[in-house]
Amino acid sequence: MASFLGYQCSLCGTRYAPDEVTYLCPKDSAVLDLRMDWPAVAAATSPDDLRANPERSMWRYLPLLPVADPGHHRTPLRAVGWTPLYRPPALAASLGLDALYIKDESSNPTASFKDRASALLVARASETNAEVIVTASTGNAGAALAGMAAAVSAQALIFAPKTAPPAKIAQLLVYGARVFLVDGNYDAAVALSQAAADEFGWYCRNTAYNPFTVEGKKTAAYEVWEQLLAPEPPDRPLSLFVSVGDGNIIAGLHKGFRDLVELGWLTQTPRLFGVQAAGSAAIARAFEAGSEQIEPVSADTLADSISVDLPSDGLRALRAARQTDGAFLTVSDQEILAAIPALGRVGIFAEPAGAAAFAGVRKALESGLIKSHDPVLAFNTGSGLKDVAAARQAAGEAPIIAPTLSALKEAMETHP
Ligand SMILES: *Cc1c(COP(=O)(O)O)cnc(C)c1O
Ligand SMILES: [Zn+2]
Repeated sequence: MASFLGYQCSLCGTRYAPDEVTYLCPKDSAVLDLRMDWPAVAAATSPDDLRANPERSMWRYLPLLPVADPGHHRTPLRAVGWTPLYRPPALAASLGLDALYIKDESSNPTASFKDRASALLVARASETNAEVIVTASTGNAGAALAGMAAAVSAQALIFAPKTAPPAKIAQLLVYGARVFLVDGNYDAAVALSQAAADEFGWYCRNTAYNPFTVEGKKTAAYEVWEQLLAPEPPDRPLSLFVSVGDGNIIAGLHKGFRDLVELGWLTQTPRLFGVQAAGSAAIARAFEAGSEQIEPVSADTLADSISVDLPSDGLRALRAARQTDGAFLTVSDQEILAAIPALGRVGIFAEPAGAAAFAGVRKALESGLIKSHDPVLAFNTGSGLKDVAAARQAAGEAPIIAPTLSALKEAMETHP
């Protein structure tokens, strides 16, 4: 907390003091990076200190975060992060990979990666005495904010597209958030939420609008480092795959690894691969064009969590891939659907956007971006229970039978 120095614009580089700005750069409306006093952090704490910390959550990295201890022990706020890193041999074998890891974010309290950002935002909001926190969301960021706010008895207000999967909308309401379903897409919900935050003086969590979201998301990079890269990294560089909508998760991972390099605790940042749905691929197109200019698309994919016309963190997402010798790639909805049961067969249940990262691994192998000896990690960013309709589309239907042995025998013939 004492090591939080202020902000620096990701586009023009202008620096601001902590109390000078709240959201975007006043000059060019670009997203701001937080500046931390890394030498002070390195002087006060070490990798061994971190390893010895019994806290099994993202809050084990408190010395590296720009907020003070939020308290609220024994609440879901303190259960975010430190998600499992699986190494399913059958999945690696199915792709001919030597080592394939899945980091499963569905074990977070609200069942997606978004809890990391929302937990940090809720901590920040209580420090700045913000009473109402608002966000636009395709569903998961809203559920995460609603859940984390409920955990600390804060008020959350969510704008989601009316087409969000029913399970996600139900989750928002159960957590007690005020929910408005917008008759429009995610981009429309974003615009309305920002206008409403200005009008009513609410604190806005919006992804890559609020500079603190990345600070929560970067904790996943710290975990990958502790779980896989420290003290001794694998012989070959790690290739890390994550699905991309706004680009804030991949930007957060990049930030987290760069922090560790600045601290002198990591020598090489993993290669970061961003996976977009072919129907929502604004960043991937800019990557292919070798450009930093991101043109909006008319997003159309069943992976609702990564369905975005104009990604709000596109530039930092592009740089995350370019600066780490990674890449952006696209996968079709068909490939995403096929990835859901592939993960399911090793006990991991992903929503479409979560499965997209694994679909991207297959794509990257086919196109030679990665080799079979490369250690590979793919995030599952959200639980399959979030979108049951997609899961059923991916897995097919079970036969309905009369409660008799003869009906069973018949069904066993037709449904082997
Ligand atoms: C939000 C989300 C993503 C993408 O994160 P961005 O920061 O928008 O790129 C991927 N998967 C799931 C499940 C998500 O909820
Ligand atoms: Zn600027």
